[in-house]
Amino acid sequence: MRLPSSTAEQRFCKPSIRVRLSGKAQMRLLLVEDEKKLALSLKKALESESFAVDTAYDGEDALDKATFEPYDLIVLDIGLPKINGFEVTKKLREEKVPTPILMLTAKDTISDKVKGLNMGADDYLPKPFDFDELLARIRALSRRGKDEPKIRLSVDNLSLDPVTHVATRTNKELKLTAKEYALLEYLMRNQNHILSKTQILEHVWDIETDPFTNVVDVYIGYLRNKVDKDFPKEIPLIETVKGIGYRISNKK
Ligand code: CA
Repeated sequence: MRLPSSTAEQRFCKPSIRVRLSGKAQMRLLLVEDEKKLALSLKKALESESFAVDTAYDGEDALDKATFEPYDLIVLDIGLPKINGFEVTKKLREEKVPTPILMLTAKDTISDKVKGLNMGADDYLPKPFDFDELLARIRALSRRGKDEPKIRLSVDNLSLDPVTHVATRTNKELKLTAKEYALLEYLMRNQNHILSKTQILEHVWDIETDPFTNVVDVYIGYLRNKVDKDFPKEIPLIETVKGIGYRISNKK
Protein backbone atom coordinates (compact mmCIF):
# COMPACT_ATOMS: atom_id res chain seq x y z
CA MET A 1 0.00 0.00 0.00
CA ARG A 2 1.22 3.52 -0.76
CA LEU A 3 1.94 6.02 1.95
CA PRO A 4 -0.18 9.15 1.85
CA SER A 5 1.84 12.27 1.11
CA SER A 6 -0.32 15.03 2.46
CA THR A 7 -3.43 13.10 3.37
CA ALA A 8 -2.79 12.53 7.07
CA GLU A 9 -2.19 16.20 7.67
CA GLN A 10 -5.20 17.07 5.60
CA ARG A 11 -7.36 14.71 7.59
CA PHE A 12 -6.51 16.47 10.83
CA CYS A 13 -7.00 19.92 9.38
CA LYS A 14 -10.22 19.03 7.67
CA PRO A 15 -12.13 16.40 9.65
CA SER A 16 -14.65 14.57 7.48
CA ILE A 17 -17.82 15.74 9.08
CA ARG A 18 -21.00 15.18 7.10
CA VAL A 19 -22.95 18.38 7.44
CA ARG A 20 -26.61 18.30 6.79
CA LEU A 21 -27.97 20.81 4.35
CA SER A 22 -31.68 21.11 3.76
CA GLY A 23 -32.25 17.69 5.30
CA LYS A 24 -29.88 15.83 2.99
CA ALA A 25 -26.48 14.41 3.90
CA GLN A 26 -23.79 16.32 2.07
CA MET A 27 -21.94 14.30 -0.52
CA ARG A 28 -18.14 14.35 -0.59
CA LEU A 29 -16.56 14.34 -4.02
CA LEU A 30 -13.00 14.01 -5.16
CA LEU A 31 -12.49 15.94 -8.38
CA VAL A 32 -9.40 14.91 -10.33
CA GLU A 33 -8.55 17.25 -13.19
CA ASP A 34 -5.14 18.62 -14.16
CA GLU A 35 -6.46 21.74 -15.90
CA LYS A 36 -6.50 23.86 -12.76
CA LYS A 37 -8.82 26.54 -14.13
CA LEU A 38 -11.41 23.97 -15.10
CA ALA A 39 -10.96 22.10 -11.80
CA LEU A 40 -11.48 25.25 -9.76
CA SER A 41 -14.52 26.41 -11.68
CA LEU A 42 -16.09 22.93 -11.40
CA LYS A 43 -15.27 22.84 -7.69
CA LYS A 44 -16.95 26.19 -7.19
CA ALA A 45 -20.02 25.19 -9.18
CA LEU A 46 -20.35 21.86 -7.36
CA GLU A 47 -19.94 23.53 -3.98
CA SER A 48 -22.76 25.90 -4.86
CA GLU A 49 -24.86 22.73 -5.37
CA SER A 50 -24.01 21.74 -1.77
CA PHE A 51 -21.34 19.14 -2.50
CA ALA A 52 -18.13 19.04 -0.48
CA VAL A 53 -15.33 18.94 -3.03
CA ASP A 54 -11.64 18.05 -2.73
CA THR A 55 -9.40 18.39 -5.77
CA ALA A 56 -6.37 16.51 -7.05
CA TYR A 57 -4.35 17.67 -10.07
CA ASP A 58 -2.46 14.48 -10.87
CA GLY A 59 -3.00 10.72 -10.71
CA GLU A 60 -0.65 10.13 -7.78
CA ASP A 61 -2.37 12.66 -5.54
CA ALA A 62 -5.76 11.27 -6.65
CA LEU A 63 -4.71 7.77 -5.65
CA ASP A 64 -3.47 8.93 -2.22
CA LYS A 65 -6.61 10.87 -1.47
CA ALA A 66 -9.06 8.30 -2.82
CA THR A 67 -7.36 5.46 -0.93
CA PHE A 68 -7.40 7.18 2.45
CA GLU A 69 -10.53 9.32 2.40
CA PRO A 70 -14.09 8.02 2.31
CA TYR A 71 -15.44 9.86 -0.72
CA ASP A 72 -18.94 9.25 -2.03
CA LEU A 73 -17.83 9.69 -5.62
CA ILE A 74 -14.73 10.38 -7.71
CA VAL A 75 -14.87 12.49 -10.87
CA LEU A 76 -11.76 11.42 -12.74
CA ASP A 77 -10.12 12.85 -15.84
CA ILE A 78 -8.29 10.30 -18.03
CA GLY A 79 -5.38 12.43 -19.27
CA LEU A 80 -3.44 13.23 -16.07
CA PRO A 81 0.21 13.78 -15.11
CA LYS A 82 2.09 10.95 -13.32
CA ILE A 83 -0.62 8.28 -13.44
CA ASN A 84 -3.46 8.40 -15.97
CA GLY A 85 -7.14 7.96 -15.09
CA PHE A 86 -7.32 4.38 -16.36
CA GLU A 87 -4.42 3.37 -14.11
CA VAL A 88 -5.85 5.25 -11.13
CA THR A 89 -9.14 3.35 -11.57
CA LYS A 90 -7.38 0.02 -11.93
CA LYS A 91 -5.25 0.58 -8.83
CA LEU A 92 -8.19 1.73 -6.72
CA ARG A 93 -10.16 -1.35 -7.66
CA GLU A 94 -7.13 -3.55 -6.91
CA GLU A 95 -7.01 -1.90 -3.47
CA LYS A 96 -10.72 -2.76 -3.13
CA VAL A 97 -11.76 0.90 -2.97
CA PRO A 98 -15.44 0.68 -4.00
CA THR A 99 -16.09 4.44 -4.48
CA PRO A 100 -18.10 5.05 -7.68
CA ILE A 101 -15.99 6.63 -10.43
CA LEU A 102 -17.28 8.96 -13.13
CA MET A 103 -14.63 9.18 -15.82
CA LEU A 104 -14.06 12.28 -17.96
CA THR A 105 -12.36 12.17 -21.30
CA ALA A 106 -11.73 14.46 -24.22
CA LYS A 107 -12.77 11.83 -26.71
CA ASP A 108 -16.16 10.26 -27.06
CA THR A 109 -14.79 7.01 -28.35
CA ILE A 110 -16.28 3.61 -27.69
CA SER A 111 -12.87 2.09 -26.93
CA ASP A 112 -12.14 4.64 -24.17
CA LYS A 113 -15.59 4.06 -22.73
CA VAL A 114 -15.17 0.29 -22.77
CA LYS A 115 -11.63 0.52 -21.39
CA GLY A 116 -12.75 2.79 -18.55
CA LEU A 117 -15.70 0.58 -17.65
CA ASN A 118 -13.54 -2.55 -17.83
CA MET A 119 -11.02 -0.99 -15.45
CA GLY A 120 -13.84 -0.48 -12.97
CA ALA A 121 -15.24 2.99 -13.68
CA ASP A 122 -18.99 3.27 -13.17
CA ASP A 123 -19.86 5.88 -15.75
CA TYR A 124 -18.29 7.98 -18.44
CA LEU A 125 -18.78 11.57 -19.62
CA PRO A 126 -17.12 12.95 -22.77
CA LYS A 127 -15.60 16.46 -22.69
CA PRO A 128 -16.75 19.07 -23.33
CA PHE A 129 -19.85 18.61 -21.20
CA ASP A 130 -22.53 20.87 -19.78
CA PHE A 131 -22.34 21.38 -16.05
CA ASP A 132 -25.97 20.24 -15.79
CA GLU A 133 -25.08 16.98 -17.44
CA LEU A 134 -22.19 16.41 -15.03
CA LEU A 135 -24.55 17.14 -12.15
CA ALA A 136 -27.15 14.70 -13.48
CA ARG A 137 -24.54 11.94 -13.82
CA ILE A 138 -23.16 12.57 -10.33
CA ARG A 139 -26.62 12.40 -8.84
CA ALA A 140 -27.65 9.34 -10.80
CA LEU A 141 -24.44 7.58 -9.84
CA SER A 142 -24.72 8.40 -6.15
CA ARG A 143 -28.31 7.16 -6.04
CA ARG A 144 -27.49 4.11 -8.06
CA GLY A 145 -24.69 3.10 -5.73
CA LYS A 146 -26.88 3.30 -2.67
CA ASP A 147 -30.23 1.70 -2.89
CA GLU A 148 -31.01 0.69 -6.42
CA PRO A 149 -30.05 -2.80 -7.47
CA LYS A 150 -28.04 -3.06 -10.67
CA ILE A 151 -30.28 -5.44 -12.52
CA ARG A 152 -31.42 -5.16 -16.09
CA LEU A 153 -34.88 -3.61 -16.41
CA SER A 154 -37.33 -4.40 -19.16
CA VAL A 155 -40.77 -3.46 -20.39
CA ASP A 156 -41.98 -5.31 -23.49
CA ASN A 157 -38.96 -5.24 -25.87
CA LEU A 158 -37.49 -2.13 -24.24
CA SER A 159 -34.53 -2.97 -22.06
CA LEU A 160 -32.21 -0.91 -19.86
CA ASP A 161 -28.92 -1.86 -18.22
CA PRO A 162 -28.22 0.29 -15.12
CA VAL A 163 -24.56 -0.72 -15.11
CA THR A 164 -23.64 0.33 -18.65
CA HIS A 165 -26.44 2.93 -19.03
CA VAL A 166 -27.41 1.36 -22.33
CA ALA A 167 -31.09 1.23 -23.27
CA THR A 168 -32.30 -0.77 -26.26
CA ARG A 169 -35.55 -1.42 -28.03
CA THR A 170 -35.81 -4.46 -30.32
CA ASN A 171 -32.06 -4.77 -29.58
CA LYS A 172 -31.36 -1.35 -31.14
CA GLU A 173 -29.48 1.07 -28.87
CA LEU A 174 -31.34 4.28 -28.01
CA LYS A 175 -29.21 7.42 -28.11
CA LEU A 176 -30.21 9.08 -24.85
CA THR A 177 -28.84 12.13 -23.06
CA ALA A 178 -28.03 11.79 -19.36
CA LYS A 179 -31.35 13.34 -18.35
CA GLU A 180 -33.38 11.22 -20.74
CA TYR A 181 -31.60 8.16 -19.41
CA ALA A 182 -32.29 9.11 -15.79
CA LEU A 183 -35.95 9.72 -16.60
CA LEU A 184 -36.30 6.42 -18.44
CA GLU A 185 -34.61 4.52 -15.61
CA TYR A 186 -36.96 6.09 -13.07
CA LEU A 187 -40.04 5.26 -15.15
CA MET A 188 -38.84 1.70 -15.70
CA ARG A 189 -38.04 1.13 -12.03
CA ASN A 190 -41.63 2.12 -11.33
CA GLN A 191 -43.23 0.42 -14.32
CA ASN A 192 -47.01 0.07 -14.29
CA HIS A 193 -47.23 2.83 -11.65
CA ILE A 194 -48.36 6.35 -12.45
CA LEU A 195 -45.70 8.88 -11.46
CA SER A 196 -46.72 12.47 -10.84
CA LYS A 197 -44.74 15.33 -12.34
CA THR A 198 -43.67 16.30 -8.82
CA GLN A 199 -42.30 12.82 -8.13
CA ILE A 200 -40.41 12.85 -11.41
CA LEU A 201 -39.02 16.34 -10.80
CA GLU A 202 -37.84 15.49 -7.32
CA HIS A 203 -36.24 12.24 -8.37
CA VAL A 204 -34.72 13.08 -11.72
CA TRP A 205 -34.01 16.80 -11.33
CA ASP A 206 -33.49 17.08 -7.56
CA ILE A 207 -34.87 20.59 -7.54
CA GLU A 208 -37.46 22.31 -5.46
CA THR A 209 -40.69 21.92 -7.31
CA ASP A 210 -41.72 24.89 -9.37
CA PRO A 211 -45.37 24.15 -10.12
CA PHE A 212 -45.13 26.05 -13.40
CA THR A 213 -42.17 24.25 -14.91
CA ASN A 214 -42.86 22.10 -17.94
CA VAL A 215 -39.46 20.44 -18.00
CA VAL A 216 -40.96 17.00 -17.27
CA ASP A 217 -43.42 17.24 -20.18
CA VAL A 218 -40.65 18.40 -22.48
CA TYR A 219 -38.38 15.50 -21.54
CA ILE A 220 -41.21 12.98 -21.72
CA GLY A 221 -41.67 14.28 -25.28
CA TYR A 222 -37.99 13.70 -26.11
CA LEU A 223 -38.10 10.24 -24.58
CA ARG A 224 -41.32 9.33 -26.35
CA ASN A 225 -39.71 10.18 -29.69
CA LYS A 226 -36.80 7.85 -29.00
CA VAL A 227 -38.67 5.03 -27.24
CA ASP A 228 -41.96 4.96 -29.15
CA LYS A 229 -42.06 7.14 -32.28
CA ASP A 230 -38.78 5.76 -33.62
CA PHE A 231 -40.37 2.30 -33.43
CA PRO A 232 -43.68 2.75 -35.26
CA LYS A 233 -44.30 -0.99 -35.54
CA GLU A 234 -44.06 -1.51 -31.79
CA ILE A 235 -46.62 -0.85 -29.05
CA PRO A 236 -46.23 2.65 -27.52
CA LEU A 237 -45.03 2.20 -23.93
CA ILE A 238 -45.02 5.73 -22.46
CA GLU A 239 -48.46 6.79 -21.42
CA THR A 240 -49.81 10.18 -20.34
CA VAL A 241 -52.38 9.87 -17.56
CA LYS A 242 -54.25 13.11 -17.91
CA GLY A 243 -54.09 15.40 -14.91
CA ILE A 244 -52.00 12.90 -12.93
CA GLY A 245 -48.70 12.13 -14.58
CA TYR A 246 -46.90 9.51 -16.64
CA ARG A 247 -46.50 5.75 -16.68
CA ILE A 248 -44.49 3.22 -18.59
CA SER A 249 -46.19 -0.12 -18.95
CA ASN A 250 -46.60 -3.14 -21.08
CA LYS A 251 -50.17 -3.01 -22.32
CA LYS A 252 -50.09 -6.33 -24.10
CA1 CA B 1 -6.43 16.23 -18.52
